[in-house]
Amino acid sequence: MIKTAKFGGSSVAGAAQFQKVKHIIEADPSRRIVVVSAAGKRDKADHKLTDLLYLCHAHLQYGVSCDEIFSTIRERFLTLRDELGLRYDIESELDALYQKLDRSISADLLVSRGEYFTARLMAEYLGYAFVDAGDCVFFGLDGQIDREKTYAAISEAFEKHGRIVIPGFYGKLPTGRVKVMTRGGSDITGALAAAAVEADVYENWTDVSGILMADPRIVNKPRPIAKATYAELREMAFMGASVLHEESVAPVKDKGITLNIRNTNALDDPGTVIVPSTENDVADERFLTGIAGRRNFTVLTVFKRNLNDSSVMRQALEILDRYHTKIEHITLGLDSFAFVVSSSALGDSVFNLISDLKKACRPDDIRIDDGIALVAAVGRRMTFRPGISGRLFKALGEKGVNIRTIAQGADELSIIIGVDDCNYETAIRVLYDGFAG
Ligand code: ASP
Repeated sequence: MIKTAKFGGSSVAGAAQFQKVKHIIEADPSRRIVVVSAAGKRDKADHKLTDLLYLCHAHLQYGVSCDEIFSTIRERFLTLRDELGLRYDIESELDALYQKLDRSISADLLVSRGEYFTARLMAEYLGYAFVDAGDCVFFGLDGQIDREKTYAAISEAFEKHGRIVIPGFYGKLPTGRVKVMTRGGSDITGALAAAAVEADVYENWTDVSGILMADPRIVNKPRPIAKATYAELREMAFMGASVLHEESVAPVKDKGITLNIRNTNALDDPGTVIVPSTENDVADERFLTGIAGRRNFTVLTVFKRNLNDSSVMRQALEILDRYHTKIEHITLGLDSFAFVVSSSALGDSVFNLISDLKKACRPDDIRIDDGIALVAAVGRRMTFRPGISGRLFKALGEKGVNIRTIAQGADELSIIIGVDDCNYETAIRVLYDGFAG
């Protein structure tokens, strides 16, 4: 059994958090590959090292001294090392870095040092080998991860050392320069490391006990999702639930690796397990896995008698495409069709777009409804079960929620409804209370 354990910034924020990580690693000898983010905030008033490093770079760009910020960064690392009783000569490396601080230093190189130093300290603390991401995570010239090259290098390092720590968030370009991923990218490094060694589990340790079934700002203390499939996770993330970095899912999903999101500060919580597929799910009245949603949509409805002339719809689609308007949903009636689109993406171009639609489609009427919110009820246990949507709609109707649009994917994994913005929170609560929580 091999587990890859990735620890986020809050899990490595200070000496006390490092101790928790050590405890977790020692509790299970199969946790043989560790990936860390840069140290995050120790408390609300604190700063993430990555933010400080970006700030440092911004100062350099404007020719303003970054000495004060750099000494804060230096202090954080020295304190961490000393509190943990480690011997790593971090001063020499920090001094060398300080010498390089001028306008020409790349933001990527400077910012990547947050993960680099955190991983160096973690490797010594755990007694694991340090493997630099610069030597095992590779980008192609197109800026995308070169998965094959990366997998080969990580598995070679793993074979060689048996227990390794890799800094997250960065890798190297073919030119030899360091490149960072987008924010939160250590999740991707963790997934690559898990995929490289075909780990049994990719553990993602963070400061929450898994993915919540609904937004905690709307539902009071929603429960975490115990188990979901990758397909459900995708639906939840697409509909606004905050989960892992988007690009971190593919490497583990493609290899059929189980993903487990856990809380470093609550070891007894099992967290959320994401699996490639589930069989023999017990039929349960609580058939929703989660509820997610997004606000600020507009519905554009085109009315035209005898719509079976499909060219009208095609022309309308072409016009939306011309305005780079991404369509969330399309609903179709006998004499009308409607597009649900993001209001902010539409912006002021709405007036030109409508005038083009009028010219091309010669509609009987066009209607624009702003202030629409989309709510997704996601659940693999709804699939191929009759009567589910009826029950959801009945519950919503009883609480006075009027449904403006309805969309269900062909895989029946989610039902997405459009409601007036004022009904958004009620809709989420009704679905959670009735079918999830
Ligand atoms: N340290 C980086 C960030 O703050 C990457 C990460 O934490 O995953 O975004």
